[in-house]
Amino acid sequence: MIKPSMSKTLTCSRCGCKREAYELNGVNLTSTGWDDDSRAICKRLVDCHSAEADEAINWLLDALDDDNEDAA
Ligand SMILES: [Zn+2]
Repeated sequence: MIKPSMSKTLTCSRCGCKREAYELNGVNLTSTGWDDDSRAICKRLVDCHSAEADEAINWLLDALDDDNEDAA
């Protein structure tokens, strides 16, 4: 008996990394039981190697730097 795999490796549509379904956002489970990863993106931005994620992380780091200067 073949049972559907719940841990099929999916691909981030932004950076192309192989991920488990639980590591991705935007995965659609289709009626055929296949996960549609055409819009999947890494849940953790730091794990995503796309340009979009890099930009977002740089923006966050800049914001954190500003906070640190204010606190010091
Ligand atoms: Zn990614």
